[in-house]
Amino acid sequence: MSVDIDSVVAGAGVVGLAVARALAMSGREVIVVEAGEGIGVGVSSRNSEVIHAGIYYPGGSLKAQLCVEGKQRLYAYCDERGVSHQRLGKLIVATDEAQKLALAKLLEQGRQNGVEDLQWLDAEQARALEPELACVAALWSPSTGIVDSHGLMLALQGDAEAHGVSLVFHTPLLSVRCIEQGFALQMGGAEPMTLTCRELINCAGLSAPEVAGRIEGLPARHVPTAYLCKGSYFSFSGRAPFRHLVYPAPESAGLGVHMTLDLGGQARFGPDVEWVSGIDYRVDPARADGFYAAIRRYWPGLPDNSLQPAYSGIRPKISGPGDPAADFRIDGPAEHGVPGLINLFGIESPGLTSCLALADRVMTHLP
Ligand SMILES: Cc1cc2nc3c(=O)[nH]c(=O)nc-3n(C[C@H](O)[C@H](O)[C@H](O)COP(=O)(O)OP(=O)(O)OC[C@H]3O[C@@H](n4cnc5c(N)ncnc54)[C@H](O)[C@@H]3O)c2cc1C
Repeated sequence: MSVDIDSVVAGAGVVGLAVARALAMSGREVIVVEAGEGIGVGVSSRNSEVIHAGIYYPGGSLKAQLCVEGKQRLYAYCDERGVSHQRLGKLIVATDEAQKLALAKLLEQGRQNGVEDLQWLDAEQARALEPELACVAALWSPSTGIVDSHGLMLALQGDAEAHGVSLVFHTPLLSVRCIEQGFALQMGGAEPMTLTCRELINCAGLSAPEVAGRIEGLPARHVPTAYLCKGSYFSFSGRAPFRHLVYPAPESAGLGVHMTLDLGGQARFGPDVEWVSGIDYRVDPARADGFYAAIRRYWPGLPDNSLQPAYSGIRPKISGPGDPAADFRIDGPAEHGVPGLINLFGIESPGLTSCLALADRVMTHLP
């Protein structure tokens, strides 16, 4: 008996689209099944849209490798495909002596990760770049930038479709049975169906552990616990105070309330860190108090009543509050023993930056 199709990708976020594109470009027949009404309805459209340099992540981790590699791939891809982006550069600022130590560690970590263009700035040099900044020192990262995440996903979708990929929306993957040649997938939605395939790539973002839990034949020990960590953003109504991205020294589960600019030059602040038990994207206006306090440490000039609730995103974590941050997980047959199956877990930041490199890495797990 033959299977219906070579490969199925579950999830049409930026990672699923990049993976589908890579699979199709290798000559496979591919279907992307997406529970939502279109591409990018999950984490991929609820983030900072920053092209990260690769500074923060432990040496040798997948996050470090795939961010540094992914950044280069992404800039080249955006140039080639006309995806809007800007290489704005970013300052990471220390506002006291203790944070200066943290910055020195980041500088070392960044260099170890292959980010070779980082520069240490004293307060005066930092203020020469950004006169409204309050800091005792800063790290300058010229290769950090911003990207139009939806434009990126449209370009990936276009490439994938040009190589024969079909995308089906409103089609949640409900359960999976391992068969001799691969997998039998049960799909829900208005027209429930079954489909057989040789390869299954689980790129379901926040739901990836849940989807993996519904794969009959995959031992439970290969399914991590999902933790949800919300990050809210506030927009700033006035003229942007800075021309570059400005980040505080990082905090435990996130990178700190930072200022990013959108491609129209509008400033927004976020995301903060809030561990949650369910998905609710509403932004609580009361969280603004924490924002004013955090931002004024590096921008004392922030006027009262200038922040408005904007949007939120949820980090698909596989490590809980207080745990060391988990690395990206690309679990292939070598990890779990099921031929043709790849589960992507914990694809939080820098997943957008890393999408093309993640897709390449997925391909190395397949014959
Ligand atoms: C607050 C925040 C800020 C961030 N900032 C940055 C940043 O500045 N730079 C950066 O590089 N990264 C950033 N990230 C990380 C980045 O956004 C993610 O790593 C990336 O978008 C993950 O993409 P994905 O395709 O894995 O997941 P998603 O975009 O969530 O896609 C998963 C898809 O799977 C679908 N799905 C779920 N269940 C099923 C099912 N059963 N069947 C079929 N489909 C299903 C969902 O509907 C969804 O569309 C940030 C993340 C957050 C939360």
